[in-house]
Amino acid sequence: MSEFFFSSFSRVTRPLLKLTKKHFSSLGFEKVSEEFIPEWKSNAVLFRHRKTGAEVMSVSNNDENKVFGIVFRTPPKDSTGIAHILEHSVLCGSRKYPLKEPFVVMKGSLHTYLNASTYADRTCYKVASTNTKDFYNLVDVYLDAVFFPRCVEDFQTFQQEGWHFELNDSSEDITYKGVVFNEMKGVYSQPDRILYRASQRASF
Ligand SMILES: [Zn+2]
Repeated sequence: MSEFFFSSFSRVTRPLLKLTKKHFSSLGFEKVSEEFIPEWKSNAVLFRHRKTGAEVMSVSNNDENKVFGIVFRTPPKDSTGIAHILEHSVLCGSRKYPLKEPFVVMKGSLHTYLNASTYADRTCYKVASTNTKDFYNLVDVYLDAVFFPRCVEDFQTFQQEGWHFELNDSSEDITYKGVVFNEMKGVYSQPDRILYRASQRASF
């Protein structure tokens, strides 16, 4: 699985742009391309890690926000919701941040944007802040979450986030429960989302 970083900020990437070929080469990266994007008034540099194929894109402009995103290809085999369940589970504590809900704690930071999204073929974790220290703290939490998630050792995380059967009283009917299941129940009660899904299925 190859990953893709995306950043859009000025002060933070400037040192990266000043990197000489020798510098990024010693980190195992090669520069793929560099171009100025007039519509965004941004300079974009794309690097690729030689060994893993991981791509890092650095975008610098005058926005006071420092933005970070890490994206994984997560094409699912079926509609059980595995990629979305995994996105949630990954944010339930990591090696360095063994909290139950680090994402909730991050919401108390100085961030200007904080979210994770699962699309039809990829999962993105993205964060923005105008405060440099806060920004690097948030990036660290996200990176530790995606590379060292606690959920791989705690099956109960998947049971909590994923869909599962629940029966509290034998006289009642068995029901479906789960964090992601409930979220998607809300999503698919919106007519525009049902239309979007139907047109996407028809197209692909
Ligand atoms: Zn979700």
